[in-house]
Amino acid sequence: EIPNVSVPDFVLAAGKERPDAPALIDGLKGDVITHGQLAAYVDRVAANLHARGLRKGDVVAVFCPNTPWFPVVFHGIAAAGCVMSPINSLYTPDEIAFQLKDSGAKILVTISLFMDRAGAAVEKSPVDEVIVLDGMEGHANLFDLLGADAPSVQADIDPATDLVTLPYSSGTTGLPKGVMLTHRNLVANVSQCRPLIKLGEDERIIAVLPFFHIYGLTVLMNQGLAWGGAVVTLPRFDLEDFLRTIQDHKITRAFVAPPILLALAKHPMVDQYDLSSLTSILSGAAPLDEQLALAAQDRLRRGAGTGVTVAQGYGMTELSPVSHTTPDPGAEPPGFSGQVPKGSVGFAIPNTECRLVDPGTGEDAAPGERGELWIRGPQVMKGYLNNEKATRETVDEDGWLHTGDVAIVDENGCYTVVDRVKELIKYKGYQVAPAELEAVLLGHPEIADAAVIGVPDKESGEELPKAFVVRAPGSALSEEAVMAYMAEKVAPHKKIRFVEFIDTVPKSAAGKILRKDLKARA
Ligand code: ATP
Ligand code: MG
Repeated sequence: EIPNVSVPDFVLAAGKERPDAPALIDGLKGDVITHGQLAAYVDRVAANLHARGLRKGDVVAVFCPNTPWFPVVFHGIAAAGCVMSPINSLYTPDEIAFQLKDSGAKILVTISLFMDRAGAAVEKSPVDEVIVLDGMEGHANLFDLLGADAPSVQADIDPATDLVTLPYSSGTTGLPKGVMLTHRNLVANVSQCRPLIKLGEDERIIAVLPFFHIYGLTVLMNQGLAWGGAVVTLPRFDLEDFLRTIQDHKITRAFVAPPILLALAKHPMVDQYDLSSLTSILSGAAPLDEQLALAAQDRLRRGAGTGVTVAQGYGMTELSPVSHTTPDPGAEPPGFSGQVPKGSVGFAIPNTECRLVDPGTGEDAAPGERGELWIRGPQVMKGYLNNEKATRETVDEDGWLHTGDVAIVDENGCYTVVDRVKELIKYKGYQVAPAELEAVLLGHPEIADAAVIGVPDKESGEELPKAFVVRAPGSALSEEAVMAYMAEKVAPHKKIRFVEFIDTVPKSAAGKILRKDLKARA
């Protein structure tokens, strides 16, 4: 049963029972917002947005790094019945302008540091007003959003149909698409994760992944607050800040992406911090290899002397975002005993139907075979904004969302995601997953990071795997040595045919390898 309430009513309810407990903590500055203050501020933001002329359904774009004020602004916008469209902090003025226009945003909320890019974008957009939270001549600021005079508003929200947020998909495979998510989508998804991820009210979650991505918005921000816990924010990933914040704020849970686990597994600095408060690190947003997960887990257990578990979830913006997760120890589905394999994304969360479909025939894949993952459940988006064609191609008439990812399920109902359908390298009738080759490359002690793409071979018409490799400091590894290492580890059709050394692998803010950038370069 999904509570039929708005996102702020749902997420702020538990905190109202413990108003003096911290809700949001600035990991760098230490500033605290309690649950009581959060509820009061949210009421003020909604009231002041209304007083500035915003009405139900209007879009407010938010272009801000993670700070305790981001959740205040988001819930204020939602409580006013408006729609929050979060903008990627790395966007250029043109990309910002595209989103402002496409979403039809009326107000932009940002910070002074981002005004050089935001200001240029606003000129080419429908935005009437820019609010600069930390203040700037000629603009309203945070105090104007928190002002006491405006009367409180009671927006008439229908959770099942009214949008609460309009995030844009990461644009990993093409132009970003505006994803329409309702109050019910987000309330459902936070509730669905509950039986598997048993957050308690004394938990402290580190929020280093961006709130502008749906993983940050639902899993880090809203899940954390909804069970009365505290969310500790960091504006960007810096390994030293991340480790110090876990130590100083006694963080219990981290929700991360694979690049952070890579750092935890490989960087010498990790052993200098006391990370013993951590009980769980969950990785999502991109493929995580079993060996890397185990390496990070072993390292942390040795250092901290605790039973921290490295877990994994799977999702996409169009799924609000979660469909699968590894359960907390003891929260496995009834009848399951044993270990969830570390490379797997675990079980479908409650109320989520799954199919694995052969993309060629449209039939269900045979048991134990790979297929495209299809999902149906209350977390499936309402559709893409202004893009009915893309909506129809993604969500079929029966409500199944076609994820575009290849997965496999074991006899216990445990899923493993192989890679995206579109990124599989097609070679002599085989389909080679770049993620698998990347994982093998990372197993080499002199390889700090790696990415694989397929490059077309003019003569044979086949695609050949090419590796981009970041050497570990001090390593003089050669191209031939990398190819020889791989030839020993993988079947002949998966052999790496070309190697190029690079300084860093291009990744999105949410931790995904930007293979399209590498393809352009190749
Ligand atoms: P776009 O749709 O604009 O190309 P995107 O698909 O990267 O961008 P997101 O919605 O942020 O945008 O990401 C969802 C995708 O991330 C999934 O479809 C999947 O490919 C990948 N993903 C998420 N979690 C995992 C995981 N645990 N393992 C493997 N892949 C994952
Ligand atoms: Mg996608």
